[in-house]
Amino acid sequence: MLKVCVLATSSAGNCTFVGSGRTRILIDAGLSRREIVERLAAIGEQPEQLDAIFITHEHSDHTCGLPAFARKFKTPIYLTHLTAPTIDWNGKMPERIEPFQAGIRIRVGDLEVQSFTIPHDAIDPVGFTVSCQGMKVGLAMDLGYLPDSVKWHLSGSHVMVLESNHDLDMLKVGPYPWSVKQRVMGRKGHLSNAIVSDFIAEDLDGEVQTLVLGHLSEQNNHPEIARVVAQQALEMRGLATRLVVANPKQLTEAFVLA
Ligand SMILES: [Zn+2]
Ligand SMILES: [Zn+2]
Repeated sequence: MLKVCVLATSSAGNCTFVGSGRTRILIDAGLSRREIVERLAAIGEQPEQLDAIFITHEHSDHTCGLPAFARKFKTPIYLTHLTAPTIDWNGKMPERIEPFQAGIRIRVGDLEVQSFTIPHDAIDPVGFTVSCQGMKVGLAMDLGYLPDSVKWHLSGSHVMVLESNHDLDMLKVGPYPWSVKQRVMGRKGHLSNAIVSDFIAEDLDGEVQTLVLGHLSEQNNHPEIARVVAQQALEMRGLATRLVVANPKQLTEAFVLA
């Protein structure tokens, strides 16, 4: 059994729960400690039972709750060697830090967590896949484009959580200053709906049962636009993949693979 719930995903906060019957982890902790605890409770999980927190990169929408959460619950934190010192630990680095090299695979209980490098403007950003008994979840958020290596790691995922950050036209006419627009659009920025659509049309593995689109920009995207663009690409491929567009303000349902 593999249970997946995106507790939050937007430019304001990212946090995902993945658990087997035996082992439970979070990927990112970009909500306040209280909010993480509340959202875990909503899916019947307790913070004390988490075996690890894996961090993708240091940006605050992925780490803001981490120092307080780690202090209280003493959860082991896995993050890359380069990422660890970039986080503001409020003066004291927690004891249970397990730095790793981007690209390696880590076993926690009965979960195999594979990290892989993603192109983003952070010090050493990674995506993760989590596998257990032939079931696989893939997560790639905050990346400017989809290199072949990332597509390769994501392939075979039964649940895939992928960024669909902005609609290019909305971004261009939107409120951001030009320099920020360039950053978001750039090779180390964020994935557009169009890149996701091309990926679905050309490369999405037919194994994917559920595709969750996340990290939608509230200024430069609209859930219906992201949905329609991705759905059209799925239909072109004739895939029966279920499409879920994560609401930036709420947790998703818990997806259970068995
Ligand atoms: Zn982010
Ligand atoms: Zn980021």
